[in-house]
Amino acid sequence: MIDYQSITKNLGDIQVISEDKKVKHLSQDYFHFSPILVEKLADKKGDLVVVPTCEEEVLKVARMCVENRIPITVRGAGTGNYGQCIPLRGGIILDMSQMRGIKRIEAGVAVVEAGVKMGILEKEARKKGWELRMFPSTYKIATLGGFIAGGSGGIGSINYGQLRDRGNVHRVKVVTLEKEPRTIHLIGDQTQQVNHAYGTNGIMTEIEIPLAPANNWVDIIVLFDDFMTAVKFGQELADSDGIVKRLISIHAHPIPTYFPSLTSYIPEGKHCAFLLIAENCVLPLQELVKQWGGEISYLHSNDEEKGVNLIEFTWNHTTLHARNIDNNITYLQTFFWNLEQVEKMYHHFGDEVMLHLEFLRVKGRAIPAGLQLVRYTTEDRLNEIIRYHEENGATIANPHTYILEEGGRKQIDIEQLKFKQMVDPFGLMNPGKMKAWELSQHKSP
Ligand SMILES: Cc1cc2nc3c(=O)[nH]c(=O)nc-3n(C[C@H](O)[C@H](O)[C@H](O)COP(=O)(O)OP(=O)(O)OC[C@H]3O[C@@H](n4cnc5c(N)ncnc54)[C@H](O)[C@@H]3O)c2cc1C
Repeated sequence: MIDYQSITKNLGDIQVISEDKKVKHLSQDYFHFSPILVEKLADKKGDLVVVPTCEEEVLKVARMCVENRIPITVRGAGTGNYGQCIPLRGGIILDMSQMRGIKRIEAGVAVVEAGVKMGILEKEARKKGWELRMFPSTYKIATLGGFIAGGSGGIGSINYGQLRDRGNVHRVKVVTLEKEPRTIHLIGDQTQQVNHAYGTNGIMTEIEIPLAPANNWVDIIVLFDDFMTAVKFGQELADSDGIVKRLISIHAHPIPTYFPSLTSYIPEGKHCAFLLIAENCVLPLQELVKQWGGEISYLHSNDEEKGVNLIEFTWNHTTLHARNIDNNITYLQTFFWNLEQVEKMYHHFGDEVMLHLEFLRVKGRAIPAGLQLVRYTTEDRLNEIIRYHEENGATIANPHTYILEEGGRKQIDIEQLKFKQMVDPFGLMNPGKMKAWELSQHKSP
């Protein structure tokens, strides 16, 4: 039995939250997007939340956890979707939100504390002529540490691929949970040890990422009468190297009906594309829209005030809006390797699986990734839908599991396991999430 009162006392000046309601709140994320995860995770909760403000304090907490064998689950902003930061075995929630310093932005590189919000970093980078290479649609509140440990890609992935692609993370400073906790630097490929590891492999305290030259982006909505025409337009725009873009998001009817604030721009029955296009590329974009028989219903420069922030209708924000109206809706994450696969699923499932696509670059090639909205009935039916996609050659990154290896990666990562054996020999970090570790300890995940 762990005595959290004495732990709190020993933590001295470090902020601690023990009020039950607050601890419960800070133990959760957006797992409720999945009815399957709700069943498994709704009652899970940490015992104490600790809020460090600097690396020294993180090291102190790490020492305390090792000495007392307390599980520790790191939390950024808690916007993850798979219960990634929900503690399965209680213990300490390490809330990184106060470690938000921006140490340096220069020469196309940012060095920051892991708890910095990406929206703030983007704003600061833009002041110096740079911008983030990629960020999730939750960028206003999500932390960079949480994105690297739990996210995959987002706005900008049409140019830079996914977080896991070599070059998108330069360096990470990590606090270990060894017998004597210490900080280590992971450089270049070494950062893969903590990239998308759900905080099972050390506590990131400082991160260095490359930036992109800043552009003036224009938010654009394009309407189409036919869904597959919208998809083909999206593919041609993705492949048009002369048109600089940051976002190509395609939505089949009736998805736009879940966006009540956009009804004046999207008439009933239309399919649409949400785009971020560089200001100096609007003319060629207009020509491409004309070629595909689309109609621009909204065009607004980000520099002007009071525009619609289209980003917050894309990626998993699409699901958020749909669930605000019908919380029986859940979603899937899919890589479609060609447009025939998209067309087949569109006709096969009809309104049961509503197609929402985000174009991104995979190994240099632009493909549509699905974040389809699914009208949920049963777990069996959901699995049937997943199977049908896989039988037809699409790849599903299952968002209905909290197990690291059962989501996007689908395989045990030996390098991550070896790294965990070194930095977390007592298995204290986010226990129960890394299958490879649990199996190596003869436990079922
Ligand atoms: C509406 C909505 C839209 C979304 N859109 C996108 C999207 O476009 N792209 C995308 O990739 N994701 C998306 N997500 C998922 C999520 O918002 C992002 O992955 C986000 O970057 C997570 O950041 P966070 O700070 O909230 O992390 P959290 O949810 O707090 O944590 C995520 C994981 O990272 C670990 N972690 C956090 N900080 C650290 C650290 N310092 N060191 C080690 N481990 C750490 C946690 O333990 C947890 O396992 C979306 C989610 C929602 C609800």
